[in-house]
Amino acid sequence: MRLLEQRIITDGIIGENDVLKVGTFLNQQIDVELMSACADEFCRLFKDAGITKVLTVEASGIAIAAITALRLGVQLVFAKKSVTSNVAGAVYSADAYSFTHNHNNTLIVPCAYLGQSDKVLIIDDFLARGEAVNALLDICESAGAVAAGVGILIEKAYQGGGEKIKKRGVRLESLARIASLDVKNGITFEN
Ligand code: 5GP
Repeated sequence: MRLLEQRIITDGIIGENDVLKVGTFLNQQIDVELMSACADEFCRLFKDAGITKVLTVEASGIAIAAITALRLGVQLVFAKKSVTSNVAGAVYSADAYSFTHNHNNTLIVPCAYLGQSDKVLIIDDFLARGEAVNALLDICESAGAVAAGVGILIEKAYQGGGEKIKKRGVRLESLARIASLDVKNGITFEN
């Protein structure tokens, strides 16, 4: 999606350990107009998939997932990264290692919020090695829900996450696919 790619070029900062910093429009300050346009695109791509629920993980996925859920007319569920006093009863859980933060997260969704009748659209801000999305797919499987698709804002296409998702037979749509991230040569995209 050209609009998103242009914003990554103008605002993206290449950090250490292959991390792209997009705090000005996505990870801390959120450009809601841009997110709205991205949600329109997800809606266009998945409108015929019979989605009944959008699923993401806290925290950065919530904004884009919420606007997408609004457009699709369904509820949003987000996985928490730890048990809090707000989480009551039985839960589905799956582990996801975060290479950006160097620690393991156990993603948790209460069983009451996902079920066998659900067709789920997983939405997240970034796809890198596929840990977070794989864990969300595991949670869908545990719930007996159908994972109808995965929508990603920014995929670092060279880190292997996309292949893992496709191997599981799940449709993947990424709005910006980064081919390379290099302090010297900048950011390049692939289709
Ligand atoms: P994965 O689980 O696919 O390895 O990584 C995806 C998660 O890690 C995303 O939810 C995102 O929070 C974080 N992440 C991975 N790579 C980057 C990056 O280059 N920049 C930012 N801002 N977050 C990233």
